[in-house]
Amino acid sequence: MQSSSFLTVGERLCFTFLPLIAIFESLIFVVTNCFESHPKILLRSTPQARHDFAKLAEESRCFTVNEVEALHELYKKLSCSIINDGLIHKVFDLFDEKKNGVIEFEEFIHALSVFHPYAPLEDKMNFAFRLYDLRSTGYIEREEVKQMVVAILTESDLKLPDELLEAIIDKTFEDADADRDDKISRDEWKDFVSRHPSLLKNMTLPHLKDLTKAFPSFVFNTEVED
Ligand code: CA
Ligand code: CA
Repeated sequence: MQSSSFLTVGERLCFTFLPLIAIFESLIFVVTNCFESHPKILLRSTPQARHDFAKLAEESRCFTVNEVEALHELYKKLSCSIINDGLIHKVFDLFDEKKNGVIEFEEFIHALSVFHPYAPLEDKMNFAFRLYDLRSTGYIEREEVKQMVVAILTESDLKLPDELLEAIIDKTFEDADADRDDKISRDEWKDFVSRHPSLLKNMTLPHLKDLTKAFPSFVFNTEVED
């Protein structure tokens, strides 16, 4: 009963490698728990970024001005708390282009545009690689794959037996690590992903295409401001 549900999760992980969407679901979850635990301010909106929705929309090549404004609302909500675990920190490191320890709204829009359904596949591949390369060594190592799987399972309050975990990682490396040096290079990653396009399915958040409808409660001011 319980162990069969573990197996289902294991098989699902095997199939999709790492359900990245879980990370973003947990980000959305953070929004709903905004004023509760883990107070940690990691986001900051600059005055100029706050008012330059049109410029950001243009830079993102994906979002409309209204969508940028919807994201600004999401950003403001997110900024009050962030779950303090390694995975979320890695996501935020990637968002933090200026590496100053905070994510400005502009950076938030840049990073989220990678997850837009219309964003180039190449951008999605690269972002996913940088995300999985937790220690930024330029390779995805076994330890990193394991860390990601464990973190994702922990988010869902699940724990896999170690043998199953190792089996998932073995299977992944058997398929992805073409030169058998026990690490996945950027080229191996691209090859792996092209053979398993479902891996990048999680790099697209369909709602980003229709943000203003996905968050109907937002009040949009953009059209009445300058
Ligand atoms: Ca690495
Ligand atoms: Ca390799």
